[in-house]
Amino acid sequence: MEEEQEYLFKIVVIGDSAVGKSNLLSRFARDEFDHNSKATIGVEFQTQVVEIDGKEIKAQVWDTAGQERFRAVTSAYYRGAVGALTVYDISRSTTFENIKRWLDELNTHCDTTVARMLVGNKCDLENIRDVSVEDGKNLAEEEGLFFIETSALDSTNVKTAFEIVIREIYKNLS
Ligand code: GDP
Ligand code: MG
Repeated sequence: MEEEQEYLFKIVVIGDSAVGKSNLLSRFARDEFDHNSKATIGVEFQTQVVEIDGKEIKAQVWDTAGQERFRAVTSAYYRGAVGALTVYDISRSTTFENIKRWLDELNTHCDTTVARMLVGNKCDLENIRDVSVEDGKNLAEEEGLFFIETSALDSTNVKTAFEIVIREIYKNLS
């Protein structure tokens, strides 16, 4: 008799404070958006089931919950991660400039097989855009990451971002 295999993928979300990490997670897991950024502090992770190639996969997505200064994110946070979303805010270029430091952090704690995605969040704020799509694409290419722009506010590409990472993790298994 064949056992149904269980898939549980730990995915971490990293990036500067207020780029929208918690909201990406709540949009993905509960289809909710909080205008009050404090609302989700304290939540460690949320689990969402997605179906890939007829297989049920549990995505356990971890949120830094307010410890996003460099080095304040502990190794326990990264432990066992098989995917990572590295997030910046397209309306604040400093958050984009810090991506390299977040990738350094990720490399310190995880091996290179972790599926990585560069996420430019808040793409609904086109009128105050501070980082071009081109710059995002170029950095992703340089660093060997997938790239996507999202909006946790209007839902653009949120599900897709997580699904691309989950698919890549699944692909790496087989
Ligand atoms: P975190 O510190 O990275 O977890 O960021 P939060 O999820 O707490 O969001 C920080 C602030 O940005 C909050 O005021 C959110 O309402 C806002 N925010 C998050 N995502 C978006 C988005 O996609 N678009 C816009 N316009 N605002 C967003
Ligand atoms: Mg947060």
